[in-house]
Amino acid sequence: MTAPDLVLPVDLARYAAGNTGVPYFHRFDSDRPGPRVTILALTHGNEWCGALALHHLFERGVRPARGTLTLGFANVAAAQTRASDGSGSRRYIDEDFNRLWTGPVLDGPRTSHELERARVIRPLIDDTDHLLDLHSMQTPSPPLALAGLADKGLALCRRLGWPSHIIRDAGHPEGARMRDYGAFARDGDSRSAVLVECGQHQDPTSVTVAIEVSYRFLDTFGLLRLADRPTIPEAPPATVITVTGLVSVQSPAFRFARDYRGLEVIEHAGTVVAWDGERAITTPHDDAVLIMPSPRIRVGQTALRFGRVAAP
Ligand SMILES: [Zn+2]
Repeated sequence: MTAPDLVLPVDLARYAAGNTGVPYFHRFDSDRPGPRVTILALTHGNEWCGALALHHLFERGVRPARGTLTLGFANVAAAQTRASDGSGSRRYIDEDFNRLWTGPVLDGPRTSHELERARVIRPLIDDTDHLLDLHSMQTPSPPLALAGLADKGLALCRRLGWPSHIIRDAGHPEGARMRDYGAFARDGDSRSAVLVECGQHQDPTSVTVAIEVSYRFLDTFGLLRLADRPTIPEAPPATVITVTGLVSVQSPAFRFARDYRGLEVIEHAGTVVAWDGERAITTPHDDAVLIMPSPRIRVGQTALRFGRVAAP
C-alpha cells in the first residue's frame, strides 16, 4: 500500500503500535476524573495539518490534567498512498472515511478499506465525550469551525474561540461525518464534536492553526496542564454562518466562474458562481457566503456550500 517514493510530512510508523489495541491510536489517562477527549488527524489522508499537530503534542509530551486524552491517526493507508495525479497523499482508498458515521452504515453488510478502519476505530469514538477532528481545504480559505446543527455544537465553537468563522451545517447528502455521529449531534446529550478546517492543504499556516486549536480544545475541557500551556492569542469575535444550500457536482465538467478561495460574499441572488456542465450554479439569495469552494471534486461530491451570516 505504501508508495516508497512518497515523502510524508510525519513518519507515521513510530505511531503505528498505539496503546489502545487500535493501530495509530494512543490514549493517555490522567487517573483523575474528567471528560474523555479525542483529537483526530488524517480523517482525510491528504490533510496533514492534524498529523503534524498530533506529532507536536507527542513531541512535547502533552498529557491530560484530568480525564483521558486520545490522539489518533484515522486513514493512515490513504495518507501513505500516492494520489493518482501524483500530488501527494490520497484523500481515501475506496470511499470517503467521513461519510460513514451512522449505525446502519457501520453495522451494514457493505465493506471497504474505510469501513473496515471505521469499524475498528468506532469503540474509541463511542468512548469519547468531546471530539476534535482536524482537516484542511483545497483553497486558501480562512480556517473554519464546522459546528453541525445542534446548539451545543455552536456553543462548543464559541467556547473554543477560534477559528472565528463558525459554520452551522447539516453535513453532506452522501453520508454522515464523524462530527455528526450518534451522541455528538443529539440534543440533550452533553457529548460534542467539532470539525476544524485549518487552512489550505499545503499551507504551513494550517499546521499552526491545528496546533493552536488543539491546545484550545484541551483548555476548553480543563485537560491542559499548566506546564503544557502555550501563549494562546486572543481571537477576533466570532462570525456565525448558517449553511443555506449545497452544490453537489453532477457533471465531470464542473468549473467555478472565478477563482474563489472561500468566504466571499456575493451581493445579488442569481449571480453565476459555477457551471456544472451546461447548468449555471447561481447564488440562492442576496449576500450569499461561498463556503469551501472545491474545484477538484468528483461527481456526487460537494463542491460548494452557500451560507448566510447569522445575526450576532
Ligand atoms: Zn477533510
